[in-house]
Amino acid sequence: MSHFLEARDLTVHYGNVNALRGVNFHVDQGEIVTLIGSNGAGKTSSLMAISNLIQGTRRGTVEFGGEDITHLAPSKIVKLGISHVPEGRHIFPKLTVEENLLMGTFGAKRYDKARAAAVLEEIYQMFPRLRERRTQLGGTLSGGEQQMLAIGRGLMFSPKVLMLDEPSLELAPLVVKEIFELILDIRDRGTTVLLIEQNAGLALQIADRGYVLENGSITLTDTGEALLHNESVIKAYLGI
Ligand code: ATP
Repeated sequence: MSHFLEARDLTVHYGNVNALRGVNFHVDQGEIVTLIGSNGAGKTSSLMAISNLIQGTRRGTVEFGGEDITHLAPSKIVKLGISHVPEGRHIFPKLTVEENLLMGTFGAKRYDKARAAAVLEEIYQMFPRLRERRTQLGGTLSGGEQQMLAIGRGLMFSPKVLMLDEPSLELAPLVVKEIFELILDIRDRGTTVLLIEQNAGLALQIADRGYVLENGSITLTDTGEALLHNESVIKAYLGI
């Protein structure tokens, strides 16, 4: 049986740098799956490889819903239902919160105004803070609010899979906790989540399954719970 989203034998080179060395992983519908690993292990490259955004050489295949999407244009992949929230948020500082959210629907023909308004309303329900600040400029938001905005924008397409690159980056622990609760909420509302994180402890707490990436290879995979109690994971990533 094929999986909902499946990466097979992914290899990525940037010039002489071999960032991924034949990586296999999958995500089933309704799961939260995390890829953990230290800086430079290949986490970002894994998501970029799925979205066909690698600026380098990529080999291997990506399947989604049983269809080979390896060579589809990035915009096509988004339209099929895989939304990618990149590291660093990339919000538009001079646009308001609401304009930033509507940018998520830019160019989508199937988006009439009524549909955009309905999706906006759903997002404001999930992120009341964004509703309060909807006329505020993106650049004036706090780091946590900017991360919420980036995730909210990623949801404007009502994706089937949401891929999140380091949502905890540079955020205070309390804010990170709030973001992770939101990720659980997003999954409970029916969106499958692929999350990459350096904060392995938190990621494994909310993930159904996880993969450990080391130097471009997957060295371990198990349920989030089992990985949280795995001695080598504890030693290398949980800092206990
Ligand atoms: P980080 O948390 O720092 O983003 P990561 O686990 O996401 O790390 P990648 O960003 O996928 O890792 O990087 C894997 C390797 O590929 C690293 O050695 C990195 O320096 C290299 N790399 C990534 N992007 C490029 C690029 N555009 N050009 C050259 N090398 C790159």
